[in-house]
Amino acid sequence: MKRRPSFPARIAFSSERRDAPQPASSAPAAHGHGLDSIAVRLNMVRGLSKQGIQDPMVLSAMQSIERHRFVDSALVNQAYEDTSLPIGLGQTISKPGVVARMLELLRNGSSGKLGRVLEIGTGCGYQAAVLSMLASEVYSIERLRGLHEKARENLRSLRLANLHLLLGDGMLGYARGAPYAAIIAAAGGEAVPQAWVDQLAIGGRLVAPVVTGSGPAGQQALLVLDKSTQGVRQSVLEAVHFVPLKSGVA
Ligand code: SAH
Repeated sequence: MKRRPSFPARIAFSSERRDAPQPASSAPAAHGHGLDSIAVRLNMVRGLSKQGIQDPMVLSAMQSIERHRFVDSALVNQAYEDTSLPIGLGQTISKPGVVARMLELLRNGSSGKLGRVLEIGTGCGYQAAVLSMLASEVYSIERLRGLHEKARENLRSLRLANLHLLLGDGMLGYARGAPYAAIIAAAGGEAVPQAWVDQLAIGGRLVAPVVTGSGPAGQQALLVLDKSTQGVRQSVLEAVHFVPLKSGVA
């Protein structure tokens, strides 16, 4: 009987593989015996640049964080496709293109790392891991205990000392870490909760999906909010599709 290949993530983690020769193919396959995760990520990042993502820090963080660690083993082959994937409890990991776009907006072209950042909606922890490379401290809140624990598990071996996972209602923000240089939400509500605006630093930026349409489909768009001494300035950008922002812990 043919031995089932081991979970590709294991193979890709070993440090020796970092120096292994890369296949020449421009579209490396994420299947078979080993997911050559460096090559497939490079391919994913090339795709992101083609989509217009330019921020080198975002591209490099997405090159280094292994997205396949954050999805169920049955979905590993799709981990580097530009698609959202189920992560359990009816939630999804956002597609790489949207993660990159939001992080690029959040960084707003700054040359160094962001200061303290608040993320609402840890989910499986993927975006939190990418963020941890772009900010000095990241506080990431999840309201579903099952996902909070899953994220903790997914992130354990990465040992990201500047990433703090919290179980709680992100609609209240996290006052103890405030003020934040940036706030990012991975779930869309009718409006931006006042707590987020209050906890954003002067000069800070918030990026979140918000419901724009009134129909049952709940059309959403990306909202960028900048806070200055003059008040807040908001711009509504392209349509997006996120899971709903809900209150309370479950
Ligand atoms: N960034 C995540 C995406 C997860 S999907 C990732 O990389 O996987 C959005 C998440 O937001 C879901 O897990 C959902 O449970 C969570 N969420 C929704 N409302 C929330 C709230 N009020 N507080 C905290 N998390 C919330």
